[in-house]
Amino acid sequence: KFISLKNYIKGGFPQEKDFETKEVELNETLGDNQILVKLIYISVDPYVRGRMSEGKSYIDPFKVGEPIECGGVGKIEKSNCSKWKVGEYIACNSFPWKEKFVTNGTEPILYKADKDLAPLPCYLSLLGMTGMTGYLGLTEIGEPKKGETLVVSAGSGAVGQVVGQVGKLLGCKVIGIAGSKEKCDFMTKELGFDISVNYKSPTYKDDIAKAVPNGVDIYWENVGGDISDAIWPHLNKYARIPLCGIISAYNKTEMDVGPRLQMYLLKSSAKMQGFIVFNFFDKFPAATKQLAEWYNQGKIKDFHSIKNGFQQVIPSFLSLFDSNHLGKMIIKIAEE
Ligand code: NDP
Repeated sequence: KFISLKNYIKGGFPQEKDFETKEVELNETLGDNQILVKLIYISVDPYVRGRMSEGKSYIDPFKVGEPIECGGVGKIEKSNCSKWKVGEYIACNSFPWKEKFVTNGTEPILYKADKDLAPLPCYLSLLGMTGMTGYLGLTEIGEPKKGETLVVSAGSGAVGQVVGQVGKLLGCKVIGIAGSKEKCDFMTKELGFDISVNYKSPTYKDDIAKAVPNGVDIYWENVGGDISDAIWPHLNKYARIPLCGIISAYNKTEMDVGPRLQMYLLKSSAKMQGFIVFNFFDKFPAATKQLAEWYNQGKIKDFHSIKNGFQQVIPSFLSLFDSNHLGKMIIKIAEE
């Protein structure tokens, strides 16, 4: 079974009817360097929404009728590649939403998921794409320094949980923003953030102002729109803004236009930099080593919301835009 797009999404929220699940006979004969992978865990990520619409971006749109791709962890069932043994676990940021598939084992984007180092779902979160995003975006663009104030939007999610925890480990005061009381409690009680703010509260703007009496040195942008607008007036001189995502805009039929916030950037001499995690691909091994070390020392936690069964992939993806999940959303497809 695999999941594909039935049509490109023109604008607005994706819906079940935009996808189809197909069943095909798999030819398991392997060519040189090929491996047969059984999917164990698959990731759903907000960024793949961009690949569901036609148009120019940093990565091509998915092809209608072909499997959608996202992060995954699988088990090798057959191998014709000296790099991989049968029974090993393998992870990739671009596995198809497909129960079983044949792929080329020499691709550099494949990485080993070592159960002795961390549980398998971690390879889709802390030690996978969202962990790399949070850690490298913060350290390379955010340039955190001890005693600075870091604000993280979508702070209870997959990327946010890493940004805030790494910020704490590097000595920052961390304020997380999210859309429910449960998420706010999670950020302070489980993730160890200093303060959490619920952007759905009618007192949101005042709550932000109270949370940052010394201003904001780093604003981690996951969301955009009104939620972010409330942060900009508090930017300190030479503040940094890693522009990771703008999820509030992904399903808009038209983008907001016009001058909004440039004045605050000007006044604070702040630096905002957009980035795609794969810009830092050469730094993934060092980042993985550091995050795994912190994880095994109990200094950083990795939370997952795990759903069960292939039929949960589409609903879980759709729910990312209106979700009460904590940490990384993952779907378990088969037993380990
Ligand atoms: P999350 O696990 O954080 O899930 C998304 C969360 O975003 C939801 O739980 C929800 O939390 C919040 N959200 C959804 N819709 C809205 C909205 N309209 N307004 C405000 N908040 C909303 O996802 P990720 O951690 O995987 O992704 C976070 C961001 O990082 C996304 O923008 C994503 O595209 C980006 N990203 C960028 C990468 C890069 O290379 N630049 C790589 C990976 C991710 P709440 O209830 O708090 O609203």
